[in-house]
Amino acid sequence: MKLYELTLTQVRDLVDKGEVKPSEVLEAVVGRIEKVEERVKAYITLTFDEAFSSVESKKLGRLSAVPIAVKDNICTKGIKTTCASKMLYNFVPPYDATVVKKMKKEGYVLIGKTNLDEFAMGSSTENSAFFTTRNPWDLERVPGGSSGGSAAAVAADMCIAAIGSDTGGSIRQPASFCGVVGLKPTYGRVSRYGLVAFASSLDQIGPITKTVEDAAYLLEVISGKDELDSTSAPVEVEKFTKALTGEVKGLKIALPKEYFSEGIDPEVKEAVLKCVRMLESEGAHVDEVSLPHTEYAISAYYIVAPAEASSNLARYDGVKYGFRAEEYTDLIDMYFKTRSQGFGNEVKRRIMLGTYSLASGYYDAYYLRAKKVRTLIRQDFERVFKDFDVIITPTSPTTAFKIGEKASDPLTMYLSDIFTVSVNLAGIPAVSIPCGMSGENLPIGLQVIGNFFEEAKILNVAYAVEKRINFRENNSPNLD
Ligand code: GLN
Repeated sequence: MKLYELTLTQVRDLVDKGEVKPSEVLEAVVGRIEKVEERVKAYITLTFDEAFSSVESKKLGRLSAVPIAVKDNICTKGIKTTCASKMLYNFVPPYDATVVKKMKKEGYVLIGKTNLDEFAMGSSTENSAFFTTRNPWDLERVPGGSSGGSAAAVAADMCIAAIGSDTGGSIRQPASFCGVVGLKPTYGRVSRYGLVAFASSLDQIGPITKTVEDAAYLLEVISGKDELDSTSAPVEVEKFTKALTGEVKGLKIALPKEYFSEGIDPEVKEAVLKCVRMLESEGAHVDEVSLPHTEYAISAYYIVAPAEASSNLARYDGVKYGFRAEEYTDLIDMYFKTRSQGFGNEVKRRIMLGTYSLASGYYDAYYLRAKKVRTLIRQDFERVFKDFDVIITPTSPTTAFKIGEKASDPLTMYLSDIFTVSVNLAGIPAVSIPCGMSGENLPIGLQVIGNFFEEAKILNVAYAVEKRINFRENNSPNLD
């Protein structure tokens, strides 16, 4: 096995035992990037120099010698953080996000900053102001989004693990399209300090990894209460890796009928149900349930998220940092030109949608109503979790679509988030894992959803599936 193919926990073991030197892992990953990045285009910025100059001097920690990629909407001190936007093309943060600080403390090696849809708005990375990342399994297809660069980098072995952010599915959907593991933690589990805000009541940072064990391991490092984020929760950081027994006997699994109805690719449905049947044969109890407000989730999400975005993005005015238009007549004209030239079309669309739904004459009809729907969606989940341990669904109704296929039709693009946004609206955790391959040789993702702060439980169910189907051993993208 090549060193760049190793998982995070394997790297840690080998380095701890002294069987592999940290610099050897780094060299292997850099070599891999040099070989395939030209075709995949996962990275906006590569940080080889910093990585090589620090790799041997890292103190021993839980991530020492592990090359990790970070989504480019998460602040890294002294290293450009662009959000894949012209607006922040030259922004170098003077501080680290809390997750970055925590990983640094454990000796991680930053390998680069990954591509995304501009300000994390999108499901394909086609909204990046710089370039579109390609799916390592089929270079004509999207890697998903918005954390498409992170998911593609993990799938193509161009890092050992990665960090993404998920507002409406941006960790799970690209993980699903790229055949890797992606976890959106409970809202509040991981500090958002230093994550460039998109929709603050929905945003969460989480791991994108090669295995479930790696996701559990990385979650242990990045979670915890943080003084710098008042929405971070004062809950104990569990040993998530310890929960991975693979035991599912007596586990109660709910299958929401709204997630298996029309519109879903039959191959996706079959692959997910096959895994569910497997868990059933191992002693899990499976029952169909209803999450009746699912059909309103996309509408509610695309009111709430743009409303918060329109407010969060008001700060990009060309005054303090980032892009400023070159020619203007006065202050107002400078704001106007900076924002017209600095933002891409999707970001402008969200700002307009959000501003409209928050306007005094429309507030009650749109924003307030969407917030009420959000409560109903959360209550749907609370009801199910009274009787069940986890909910299993497909992560996305389809496998990876072709580049350009949905780019000109925002509504079709928004609909691809149908199985992921409810989880963000409710604030609960969910993990996507690969569960099979389609006839076109594309990975299919299965989503395990849990109750608040029950990451340990969903990770264990994911682990049980992973152990039985051995996806990684049986499939890999062919980039050689
Ligand atoms: N695709 C969704 C959107 O465009 C979710 C994005 C995300 O989770 N950051 O808003």
